[in-house]
Amino acid sequence: MRTITLLPLIFALALPALSQSASGKGTSTMTDSHSKLPWMSATLAKSEKALVDKYGEAQRARAQRGLKQISEFWNDKDGNSAAFEEFVTANFAGDQATLDTMFNRYDALLEQYNGHMQEVGREFRTQAELDRGPILPFDDIFAGYDPSAHFIDDAFQNKMAFVVLLNFPLTTLDQRLTEGPNWSRRQWAEARLTQLFSKRIPADVNLEIANAGAESAKYIAEYNIWMHHVVNDKGERLFPAKMRLLSHWNLRDEIKSDYADTTNGLAKQRAIQQVMERIVSQTIPAVVIDNPQVDWNPFTNEVKPAAEKDSDFAPSPKKPVTNASEPDTRYAMLQRTYKASKLADPYSPAAPTFIARSFEDNRQIPEQRVRAILEQVVSSPEVAKVAALIQKRLGRPLEPFDVWYNGFRVKSKYSEAELDQIVAKKYPTAEAYRADIPNLLVKLGFPKDRADYIAANIIVDPARGSGHAMGSGMREAKVHLRTRVEKTGMNYKGYNIAVHEMGHNVEQTLSMKDMDYWLLNGVPNTAFTEALAFVFQARDLELLGLSQPDAQAEAMRTLNDFWGTYEIAGVGLVDMGVWHWMYDHPNATPAELKAATIQIAKDVWNKYYAPVFHKKDVVLLAIYSHMIDSFLYLPDYSIGHMIAFQIEGQVNKAGKVGPEFERMVKSGNIAPDLWMKNATGQPVGPEALLKATDEALNVIR
Ligand SMILES: [Zn+2]
Repeated sequence: MRTITLLPLIFALALPALSQSASGKGTSTMTDSHSKLPWMSATLAKSEKALVDKYGEAQRARAQRGLKQISEFWNDKDGNSAAFEEFVTANFAGDQATLDTMFNRYDALLEQYNGHMQEVGREFRTQAELDRGPILPFDDIFAGYDPSAHFIDDAFQNKMAFVVLLNFPLTTLDQRLTEGPNWSRRQWAEARLTQLFSKRIPADVNLEIANAGAESAKYIAEYNIWMHHVVNDKGERLFPAKMRLLSHWNLRDEIKSDYADTTNGLAKQRAIQQVMERIVSQTIPAVVIDNPQVDWNPFTNEVKPAAEKDSDFAPSPKKPVTNASEPDTRYAMLQRTYKASKLADPYSPAAPTFIARSFEDNRQIPEQRVRAILEQVVSSPEVAKVAALIQKRLGRPLEPFDVWYNGFRVKSKYSEAELDQIVAKKYPTAEAYRADIPNLLVKLGFPKDRADYIAANIIVDPARGSGHAMGSGMREAKVHLRTRVEKTGMNYKGYNIAVHEMGHNVEQTLSMKDMDYWLLNGVPNTAFTEALAFVFQARDLELLGLSQPDAQAEAMRTLNDFWGTYEIAGVGLVDMGVWHWMYDHPNATPAELKAATIQIAKDVWNKYYAPVFHKKDVVLLAIYSHMIDSFLYLPDYSIGHMIAFQIEGQVNKAGKVGPEFERMVKSGNIAPDLWMKNATGQPVGPEALLKATDEALNVIR
């Protein structure tokens, strides 16, 4: 999705058809996997001697490195000792010219593979994604098929991967961070090339991980609370009939919208907090989950057959009406994702735990730094100041659910209807929007020739959904802007999304077509691409010739983002703490995991939230559903907010978007910190957010 949601920070962005990367704690921690093959040690020594005899002493270090790297992944199905020797002798590039040829050919061929797989995938999904008439059942089969799904398996089997591992260095995140700033572009591209093949996870392990993810996602997707049946001590119903809220998203959003209800808002918010706490502590009666046939008082935990009927929906099989608790299913689900993830550990020698893979491969920011960054936000002096401001605006002491306070808003100068009218007139069709792209880019400060160059690379398609942007995967293909246009013309919401997606398209074009090496195409991760798209989206009114939000509105938006980052940073810290606990207690029961999660959530709360909320031992930070089914994803949100502020701050400093945007995206897919240093002079961090918050606190008092 395509507003500022932050997807997992993977660099599959750059290599969408290919699989994931690695890095790690250094070769010293690598498991001695080739000890399984009794002949390996002797064969390595023999091969090393053969390569040095053939290419000279100067190649010894490279030969040793390459041999060690392939030995980490070679198994008996890949061949016996003679096959190993033969492979090494044939494929070691012993001089620079051969090595250059090899590198350039891999760079070019992987671009072709990736680009064309992307094309096939795009065409297979056309009927599902574009507004082109009914979808037949077989269309979904095409849409669900990924022709490149087995690429990494194949590349090890046919030894395409072993050629890379024999000739180019695997790097650790630490090396990329400490040595990377002095690397040439070619060295960065080589690092990305080997990262593609830094893990060889067997198909059955990948399948188990996918199954665990799917099972926990299904558990989460059905976790609804029927709010009309949440009653208070007097049996009163605070919430309207038929209201069915999915945990945690809808519950949280209902807390947010209840600020507008001056009669019952507070009572509703307190009730929802109680519901959330019962979910975390698993004291929620099992029978009330997704069941409008029972009434429940979440304070006393009393359950009765529903005294009012607002839905025919009933769980099947029918459950007895008791207040017997949910049997720790929430934590059994979480544990299953952990156990499945752990199965991959032996096949990822450079990042041998899921936690390491999450931080070092995906985010590419070390865990200790991520922790420090999150702690910097939650312990910043701005917290108490913003909390005091919220308390003043609410006119009452803060309560724990106020971590979701959403009152930092000002009314827009234009009504949605006015904006709809302006947009529909300007863009009656998708074609009208396409024709205006060069003009929009010039308004954003791109020189005319650059605007034309970029616009010529963007194909506009009519989307079935709200819209999305699709990269090209290769230089010679074009990027796609999928946008929704109603029969009456584009509406404001569709336009706002189209401008965001256009930001993606511009980044996709510049970070692909103008990139020196294909292997470096893209940006470091999804948080960057979202932040860049948001730069465009935030200027949507200006592009319509209307005035942008004023200083007051900007300050409100900043305070809203700060408070949201404060909230989600604590959630991220809990997620990280729980994964560590699981690795430290591999044989724990779900009940033990529950107890640990509750303790971790309380500890984070007591340290960083209790001082402003004046209440201890709150467990709300553990309510996020992502914690159960999204594999340590939650720290990404905070980092995403910070990156957005850093990039937005830099563009504002530069004055106009175009040239600064081009300068920033030129770095391509290098380490996040290095990209950010090139772009703003600083590594990824919360300073820009905190600075903007200080400034906003001067505007809103
Ligand atoms: Zn987006």
